[in-house]
Amino acid sequence: MISLRRRDVDVMLLTTHNTVHSLNSLTLMRTIYWFRNDLRLHDNPGLLEQRNADALLLIYVWPKHRPWCNTVGMGEQRSRFLRESLMALDDSLKAIGQRLLVLEGAPETLLQPLVDRLNADQVVTAATPGTYERLAIEHLEKNLSVPVKQVQGNSLFTEDQLGFELPAMPSHFTPFRERVKDRVESSDNMLPAGSVDYLPAAPNWQWDNRWRHKVPAPIALPLRGGEQHGLDRLRNWVFGQQGIADYANTRNCLDGLGGSSTLSAWLANGCLSVRTVLAEVHRFEQEQMRNESTQWLIQELLWREFFYWRAMMDDKALFHAGGAKRRIRRCVFEPRNFARWCQGDTNEALINALMRQLNTTGWMSNRGRQIAASYLINEYAIDWRFGAAYFEKQLIDFDVASNYGNWQYIAGVGADPRGGRHFNIAKQAKQHDPEGVFTQKWHGHRAKQPEFITDAADWPIAPDH
Ligand SMILES: Cc1cc2nc3c(=O)[nH]c(=O)nc-3n(C[C@H](O)[C@H](O)[C@H](O)COP(=O)(O)OP(=O)(O)OC[C@H]3O[C@@H](n4cnc5c(N)ncnc54)[C@H](O)[C@@H]3O)c2cc1C
Repeated sequence: MISLRRRDVDVMLLTTHNTVHSLNSLTLMRTIYWFRNDLRLHDNPGLLEQRNADALLLIYVWPKHRPWCNTVGMGEQRSRFLRESLMALDDSLKAIGQRLLVLEGAPETLLQPLVDRLNADQVVTAATPGTYERLAIEHLEKNLSVPVKQVQGNSLFTEDQLGFELPAMPSHFTPFRERVKDRVESSDNMLPAGSVDYLPAAPNWQWDNRWRHKVPAPIALPLRGGEQHGLDRLRNWVFGQQGIADYANTRNCLDGLGGSSTLSAWLANGCLSVRTVLAEVHRFEQEQMRNESTQWLIQELLWREFFYWRAMMDDKALFHAGGAKRRIRRCVFEPRNFARWCQGDTNEALINALMRQLNTTGWMSNRGRQIAASYLINEYAIDWRFGAAYFEKQLIDFDVASNYGNWQYIAGVGADPRGGRHFNIAKQAKQHDPEGVFTQKWHGHRAKQPEFITDAADWPIAPDH
């Protein structure tokens, strides 16, 4: 392998696979690549660019515990899945002569010392929605001695491919889908980029393995973090039995693996690229069949896309009680009810089963999430943000845009044109768990308890700022 250390020159670079890339007017850089929700080597455009770096340090900053917003830190299953994903990424990097440096703290304070030590020219990271995420980038742009570059690679479309300016982003899903659906069918621009099989090193770097430690096994739902597990599940689900072909009928199944794809955790952590998922669905459509189920799955990927770009637009409003439109929703706060909902100890067996499933596995089906959210919002009249924060703690697929966007939707302060959803729990149980198998499995039947009554005087309406 030839190593070239020249800047702003035309070079020929030989990779480990002896393929020759002609790089015109290439600027060789000393780069820090900061992984965020893109923990993969396949279809990772930001990382792919770094094959040409002069020196490269790869880092991940473990999410900082923010007690005032995510009221309760990171749950066991969420942290297990993330750590597995990081260890798998580190293993894949080792195989190509690189390593992952995992740090804990705030990127705002951690990055400058690394820039100094590496004598870096730039920091590159994947674009991601979220207010804290944006604030961190803004802080770094202002205070870091080198530029910060964000690369879009975690959505189906880049901003340029949306076909409209972001401020014109529709408030509701249907007009959004109408504007982009043809492009999902036809655009070659959305094909996944190749896999990274070579990366330059960070010379003389001392690696610290202390962040790598054994994690507890997943309970009841064997979803393991890491790119390869995600790719395996994708291929097995799309082309296997109980797979995509029947998704329209199975997608509301309350338990995982037998129903919907359960790809969300890999997508949320970026172990899987959404373009790779779409490409695999298209391959299935070409090789096997295109039916209502395949189209439905593509529609779900568009829901993800919709919330992604809405979150980019809404920014802080994603966390306002009244959403972007500042709708006032009267709510009360009865802490015992909140605790009962979190623990799965309410007077509704289905809600208990759902919450126990979440607490044990870190996953809940889409139908389950809708029912559990509706219960907290409509029966307990609790501010939806407490529920969203609790989901943030527990979900192995926590994704800021999809989580807060969906909670707003159910609460009627977000993208739902019907102004929110109120589910009849008995009806939902009859429809989705007619024999009570799911409720039994998750020990939903608890001794009945007296209801705690609160009124508005107990808890003032939170100021909407
Ligand atoms: C209150 C509430 C909170 C939610 N929080 C999250 C979250 O933090 N992270 C998350 O990824 N999803 C969230 N969702 C959306 C949805 O419930 C999950 O994506 C889905 O249940 C994951 O299971 P799956 O992969 O088997 O989905 P499938 O049904 O197999 O769908 C395939 C993929 O499409 C996407 N998708 C499906 N439905 C939605 C949706 N309603 N909104 C956005 N994307 C969707 C997901 O990436 C999913 O993996 C939430 C929904 C609700 C109602």
